[in-house]
Amino acid sequence: MSEQDTNFYSELLRAYFDSANDAIFVLCNELKFLMCNRLMEQWIGCSEAALTRHNERRPITELLGDEDTITSFQRAMQQVLAGDPQRLECLIHPAGGEARWLEISMTRVDVEAGDMVIAVARDITRQREQLARIRYQSTHDPLTGLPNRVLLQGLLDEVGDDSSRNSAVLVVDIPRFRDVNEALGYRTADKILRTVAQRIKAAVVAYQGVTTGHLGGDQFAVVAGNGAAVNIESIADIIRTQLARPIQESGMQLTLGSNIGIAQFPEQVERCSNLLQAAETALHHAKQSAATGIRNFHPELYGAGSRRLALVNDLRTAIDDCRIRVHLQPIVPLQKGGGIRLEALARWTRDDVEMSPDQFIALAELSGHILQVTQLVMEQAIAQSAQLIREGFVSGVAINLSPHCLMDRFFTDRVASLIKRCQIPANALTFEITEGVAMSERMHQHTVQALKTLGVQLSIDDFGTGHSSLCKLRHLPVGELKIDKSFIRDMLTDEGNATIVKASINLAHSLKLKVVAEGIEDEATLACLARMGCDYAQGFCISQPLPLPELLGWLKTHSAAMADGAHCQYPAKP
Ligand code: C2E
Ligand code: MG
Ligand code: MG
Repeated sequence: MSEQDTNFYSELLRAYFDSANDAIFVLCNELKFLMCNRLMEQWIGCSEAALTRHNERRPITELLGDEDTITSFQRAMQQVLAGDPQRLECLIHPAGGEARWLEISMTRVDVEAGDMVIAVARDITRQREQLARIRYQSTHDPLTGLPNRVLLQGLLDEVGDDSSRNSAVLVVDIPRFRDVNEALGYRTADKILRTVAQRIKAAVVAYQGVTTGHLGGDQFAVVAGNGAAVNIESIADIIRTQLARPIQESGMQLTLGSNIGIAQFPEQVERCSNLLQAAETALHHAKQSAATGIRNFHPELYGAGSRRLALVNDLRTAIDDCRIRVHLQPIVPLQKGGGIRLEALARWTRDDVEMSPDQFIALAELSGHILQVTQLVMEQAIAQSAQLIREGFVSGVAINLSPHCLMDRFFTDRVASLIKRCQIPANALTFEITEGVAMSERMHQHTVQALKTLGVQLSIDDFGTGHSSLCKLRHLPVGELKIDKSFIRDMLTDEGNATIVKASINLAHSLKLKVVAEGIEDEATLACLARMGCDYAQGFCISQPLPLPELLGWLKTHSAAMADGAHCQYPAKP
């Protein structure tokens, strides 16, 4: 090739090199610059000539911000020089340019002059920023800007079962905060929650290694790492004092107070990851009993110690993996004029063993997971029955509610959005509330009214077990009573139970409520209930609770015979 040709090609190559969309540079084995293209010159604010001046070649390490980045860059270079191409992300911070994140791919080239490394770099600053923003949003509470449960749990998971690293968690809750919500509206309540967040942060500021978080609603948590953990009870006292001071808001002076649950690792729990749950359990007990409003976790609070804790852990994982399923049990009409309905019942299989909902629902309530369980049940129950309603097989579905759902201020919104998403009429949905809850102070009137306004139906479950006051019953916006199965089971042999069943049916009818009898296991009881004028029947003698595919089979065979009370040849109530 002539000299002219060589010049031509090297100029062409140079033009290509300089017009590339990526920054390209060449380093010698001492990490010094041998060449760089125009984009790299722009990014680092320095010309190629200045970087590569004879005997004054500048090393790339000058551009790398800190010692850690320099070390990882040097390590990557050694591997490249050993023949193993590398890709790494690093922050360059040049004196004459702005800081930016680069993704650098490096390959070794062997030429006569010796080994050198060609590097191609892409600016990934914007992606890193976006990622950081997403990471921030998913780990912080939008209302207070404090770390959320995900971030706090992450801190605890990091410690695992390393018992040399003491840790402690306290969970704070504001008593009767829902009254503040109702009286002052959500906007003011949100401002108050921000003030509470600031007070808690101020209370812990003197301690190193302490993170304040917001678990949602009126619940906050403080995680104290090694060193600060021994002070957790003093921290709790300071927070309590801070929150006992009046808060000035909207021209009013409010004194909120607090309940606090504390749990400490390794003294009280076996794994650091269980601290948050344990502190929530302690809080639950603080709310109910402690005179001081502060309660330390004790494994007995869970009933059966660490076995119970492992159960809670498994339940949490099952929720995260959406392994809580529903089975649907038909509720059939016994009189003319009604359609078949369904009741959704939660199911959880743990290590191949079917767990009883009575147990795991109580556990979910105690450990603060019931809202998530209910959400999973609602999503499946509504989606599955929407299809059956559209096909005319059933007229609606009933879902069991725990009192915690009625205290959740977003509950009605979630129900409304599910109804909309699955396109079912609101009155096809019934919520069952146990009689004990319906009669207690925990019955949250605001949510009950909001659900009623939405158009969903309410039913009193397990009627007969919860000491109803007739006066209260008359004023509840419910449309139905479900007589508890304990009265149905032996009503044919136990005269007392038969009387209770008969009286319940009459009482319900006089209050213009429908009646469902649950737990019917034989035809004779079914016939007796139909004669007594009971409106609906549910029980194993009609069908077990079934997963959707099996339920479909059942409906195809039985729905024509069962709907509208058509299967009941028994004479109707006079
Ligand atoms: P429940 O709401 O009173 O539901 C009726 C229970 O009676 C169900 O038990 C059902 O399987 C059972 N059952 C139905 N027919 C018969 C029968 O003929 N004989 C007998 N012996 N039992 C019958 P399950 O599924 O074990 O649920 C127990 C309780 O757990 C439910 O009682 C309800 O209070 C609660 N539960 C279930 N799923 C949920 C849920 O998603 N959320 C809430 N909060 N509670 C739930
Ligand atoms: Mg029920
Ligand atoms: Mg029941």
